[in-house]
Amino acid sequence: MRLTFRRHGLPDDGRALVAEHLAVWRQLDDDERQRLLELTDALLSHKQWEAARGFALDDTVRVVVAAQAALLVLGLGVDHYRLVSGIVVHPSTLETAGVRAGPSLGTVTADHLAVVGLAQDGRGPLVVAWDEALAGAHRLQRGHNVVLHEFAHKLDMLDGVIDGTPVLDADARATWTAVCTEVYRDLVAGVPRPPLRDYAATNPGEFFAVATEVFFEQAAELAAYEPALYHVLQGFYRQDPAERDARPPRSD
Ligand SMILES: [Zn+2]
Repeated sequence: MRLTFRRHGLPDDGRALVAEHLAVWRQLDDDERQRLLELTDALLSHKQWEAARGFALDDTVRVVVAAQAALLVLGLGVDHYRLVSGIVVHPSTLETAGVRAGPSLGTVTADHLAVVGLAQDGRGPLVVAWDEALAGAHRLQRGHNVVLHEFAHKLDMLDGVIDGTPVLDADARATWTAVCTEVYRDLVAGVPRPPLRDYAATNPGEFFAVATEVFFEQAAELAAYEPALYHVLQGFYRQDPAERDARPPRSD
């Protein structure tokens, strides 16, 4: 008798699910696609995936969330998610009316109505709403992507503090701080800095998360309006989404 062991990594139809639901898939070259699938497989295999009560995770849910998280670290690697112990998926927008703690403890943010829960050591699970995650994958709301947003908070936390500055070497950190502070101060003062939305002025942690969404989802606009900010994000993420989005979409 032969026992088969099923590893809960990328399912057989995983590539097809990514191709169906991730708008960015059409912009990726072969190497990027391969890497995206490998990272997706690693996240599915090594993180705890849970459904909120009353919801069930199927392959589509797990793959679509994991693949977007994989896109964020395409140039960094899955080790950058070492603070992500698990992902909890809710069926829909969470009710968070009236709650607006910062992004540090037990955290709730009201703009995208998704919750990041943190354990004391920062290894708490990440929570996303499936309807928002699916809309983000299909790029239905320009500049918004809840998966990129919440996983960006986890990258920010890697150095132990949510301050809008991820782990960078000293030179890059000085430039990063100067560039981000200049934009952030304007937003706090009520001076529009499109395509960043007002929510970026909430605190430096939200600034980084919103800037990340815009960097990936409105890359051409960000590069045009805020070239210095685009440049520091490009240096950190080791990706050039504006170049990618300018490619002719692939049909395969
Ligand atoms: Zn946030």
